[in-house]
Amino acid sequence: MKEKDIFCRIINGEIPCHKLYEDDDVLAFLDISQVTRGHALVIPKKHYDNFLSVPHEEMHKVMDVAQRIGQIAIKFLGAKGVNILTNCYEAAGQTVNHFHVHVIPRYEDKEGFHLEMRNNSSEELNLPALAREIKENL
Ligand code: 5GP
Repeated sequence: MKEKDIFCRIINGEIPCHKLYEDDDVLAFLDISQVTRGHALVIPKKHYDNFLSVPHEEMHKVMDVAQRIGQIAIKFLGAKGVNILTNCYEAAGQTVNHFHVHVIPRYEDKEGFHLEMRNNSSEELNLPALAREIKENL
């Protein structure tokens, strides 16, 4: 039998968490690592490996809760911004194999979270061909 991932175990109450929100389909709780103050995770109760395999309806429910927690971070925690992030597969930093959305409030400096998007456009990237390849498969 496949071993349950850590978030399924949290949903089942086998592992405690600091719960923020719960309904029949969605659970939100504080991330144990608290990369910034108020760092939260929102997950569907049903298991899906990641964002790429979650059905629309459940994805929308999860995103709705993530949006509300993000709004609260701005309104009540004093955050100046929020990153909404979901990692898909190990190559993108996914460590828990159960779809989850990070809500990461951003304050000033001295935070445990840093996101860098460097400009990578080079001559080697053929943007028209790249766009065509994606578009044709959408
Ligand atoms: P990922 O790297 O997969 O996008 O994020 C997984 C997140 O789950 C990490 O930020 C990690 O801190 C969090 N996490 C892992 N185990 C637990 C746990 O037992 N409790 C809570 N609350 N968070 C966890």
